[in-house]
Amino acid sequence: MKDFIHSGVRPEHKDETNRRIMVVNLFAAVGVSLTFLLGLRAWWGNELGLALILFTASTLFFISHRIQIKFESSMGRFISVSILITCLMVLVLTLLVTGGADNTGPLWIYLVAPVTMFFAGFVRGVLALIAFVIVCTLLFFVFDESLLLTTYSYTFKTRLLYSFLTVSFLSAFYEYSRERSYRTTLHLSEQFERMAHHDHLTQLMNRRGAQAVLESEYARTQRTQRHFSIAIGDIDHFKRINDTLGHEKGDDVLVAISSLFKKRIRQQDVLARWGGEEFMFIFPETTAKDARRVLESLRETLSQSPLKINDAELWVTCSFGLCEVDESISISNAIRDADKALYEAKESGRNNVVLKTAE
Ligand code: GH3
Ligand code: MG
Ligand code: MG
Repeated sequence: MKDFIHSGVRPEHKDETNRRIMVVNLFAAVGVSLTFLLGLRAWWGNELGLALILFTASTLFFISHRIQIKFESSMGRFISVSILITCLMVLVLTLLVTGGADNTGPLWIYLVAPVTMFFAGFVRGVLALIAFVIVCTLLFFVFDESLLLTTYSYTFKTRLLYSFLTVSFLSAFYEYSRERSYRTTLHLSEQFERMAHHDHLTQLMNRRGAQAVLESEYARTQRTQRHFSIAIGDIDHFKRINDTLGHEKGDDVLVAISSLFKKRIRQQDVLARWGGEEFMFIFPETTAKDARRVLESLRETLSQSPLKINDAELWVTCSFGLCEVDESISISNAIRDADKALYEAKESGRNNVVLKTAE
């Protein structure tokens, strides 16, 4: 039973999707067994027409469950949910037409509103319920003579529809607020996720974000054997800038350099704030030779024209340590190599790019 309810649930789906899949499974399980048992009872009681309807419903509930499992797409889920809702509505309409046991059949109408809203969501649910109310109204007040196999008083019919509309309205309102709060929660969790992987000052990815990209690039290299390159850039004599102009101006410099670098790298390249005044560059599927060309152009741009910080002009340079990564070295060794290359760049006079080939 537990497997039946969890079938089709996947970790890669959204929580909301998994929840709907589970509820559809649960509903299908209850629907299949209940309609089957009621069908058997009707058969024994020699009510063959009713038994046939209930067995058909039971089969349809089962089919809708199988469709959801077999076609793991939103289309599959849509078809499965549509079968479930249509099946339920047709069953309830049959009970309205026949009256059910001692004319108590109409009581089952109250199942339709919450189930429809829950399965179909707010917009589709409201449309489906409007269609259902129209059909019920026609059945009660227009085609009652020709279609109803039982009789209801006028007061009963109007009260049933009024109370059904009230339950529908409450179910729709509940679904609307649930969807809204779900969207808000999703938005908040996306924001937290972004904050956890991005740097507040420069809006670049932070070290944690860069680590995640490094790991996925490394996995790609292992799959495709295509190398990628990484580089660590470090602003030269940044301490001096802070000491002479103040920490706030230092921050402005970091922001200005970040946006300059970001503008000049390709869309697929990643720039992250690796530490205080250090930046990590990740160049997917790029050899060190090509990455070096990009870094040289960044370095030249920076050293040949001053940064404009508010109205002032400031000359800043940067040193880079570069390393090509293949599947034979680990990520941590590659970072260490880039760091060593950066150290060499600083030692050899700063404002340059040094390549450290992987050992
Ligand atoms: P080098 O050329 O050898 O890299 O010299 P440096 O002065 O850049 O290097 P050092 O490591 O001595 O100093 C880095 C400075 O960066 C020290 C620290 O106060 C400053 N720093 C780190 N993070 C931030 C930040 O977020 N904002 C500002 N304004 N300064 C920062
Ligand atoms: Mg540094
Ligand atoms: Mg520095």
